[in-house]
Amino acid sequence: MSTTETLITAADAHSAHNYHPLPVVVATADGAWMTDVEGRRYLDLLAGYSALNFGHGNRRLIDAAKAQLDRVTLTSRAFHHDRFADFCGQLAELCGMELVLPMNTGAEAVETAVKTARKWGYRVKGVPSGMAKIVVAGGNFHGRTTTIISFSTDPEARADYEPYTPGFEIVPYGDLTAMRAALTENAVAVLLEPIQGEAGVLVPPPGYLAGVRELTRERGVLFVADEIQSGLGRTGKTFACEHEGVVPDMYVLGKALGGGVVPVSAVVSSREVLGVFRPGEHGSTFGGNPLACAVALEVIAMLRTGEYQRRAAELGDHLHRELGLLTGTGHVTAVRGRGLWAGVDIAPSYGTGREISEKLMDRGVLVKDTHGSTIRVAPPLVISKEDLDWGLHQLRAVLGA
Ligand SMILES: *Cc1c(COP(=O)(O)O)cnc(C)c1O
Repeated sequence: MSTTETLITAADAHSAHNYHPLPVVVATADGAWMTDVEGRRYLDLLAGYSALNFGHGNRRLIDAAKAQLDRVTLTSRAFHHDRFADFCGQLAELCGMELVLPMNTGAEAVETAVKTARKWGYRVKGVPSGMAKIVVAGGNFHGRTTTIISFSTDPEARADYEPYTPGFEIVPYGDLTAMRAALTENAVAVLLEPIQGEAGVLVPPPGYLAGVRELTRERGVLFVADEIQSGLGRTGKTFACEHEGVVPDMYVLGKALGGGVVPVSAVVSSREVLGVFRPGEHGSTFGGNPLACAVALEVIAMLRTGEYQRRAAELGDHLHRELGLLTGTGHVTAVRGRGLWAGVDIAPSYGTGREISEKLMDRGVLVKDTHGSTIRVAPPLVISKEDLDWGLHQLRAVLGA
């Protein structure tokens, strides 16, 4: 057996089978490229679902992490540490908000947003106890906790995890009429992805986010934008909401905030909203730790230059132009997305998303399929145009285009 086969067999023997990875075993990575245990190189067109926006082994981020490793890595929030104020101040400023509540994973940040919205509903809005409602969209992906999967519409994500957490109403994504009807008296928040990533990079109809902003303002409901995957440069802007000139009441951030080095997530909002917490009412042992803050501070500094947003916009235009040509020839039935982020529906006669992903892997390109016939293209924002073109060439070759 090859080293690859040996390692995959061993992993299968001792790990829960809650994933179905492509049969590649990565050993090292640099920029937009990964190298497997046999020394084969692959172009990474997934970028850890946008956790790797700044590429593998980004020098600035690795240096920031190494410097912090030698100073202090963890204090818990029982004490202050010297990176915390800067992290919160600079992240709030990047978001145009006032307060930050740091957590670790995306799901924890979404849970934090849910708890914040409910507490705000009872303490500020005056919703009767136990009655708070949060409105979400069909096809959503907000994470894997028991509460979050309670309002998922994906049978795989939900099955056999009941009883589900009540207090959520699901409306169709992109439907303002349904949204208006759902915003009844006890609604405290609307929780939305400005672009639905796991659903296949679904961009809502023009005017939808602005419409939700207007409705939520009118009804005194918080607009919570889950920008865990769409935010921090991916779409060509710092936040995907900016494409419609929308400023939500709360950003939920994760993935790229940790620079592909450590898990870092956060909820960022106003003093009125995040000010509802008092000591002891919420927390996390690892949230806002010195290592996380040091890496995230470097991420924030990099985003402040605007360079990554610009790259995502320019390379993204190129990516969408090239993919559009495959729609013209019938190899692809639809392409969605913004910036360096695309959901590509492969015409069924060319194979399933998984088959296409495997064929691309054989040609040295790594992507992830979703929902049967869709593949997702989301390279690190540091990818060169030449490498992106090479990846697109491999896709055309696999489709015989
Ligand atoms: C990945 C993701 C999450 C969950 O983040 P984890 O770090 O995996 O818990 C939540 N929301 C969106 C939009 C995501 O893409």
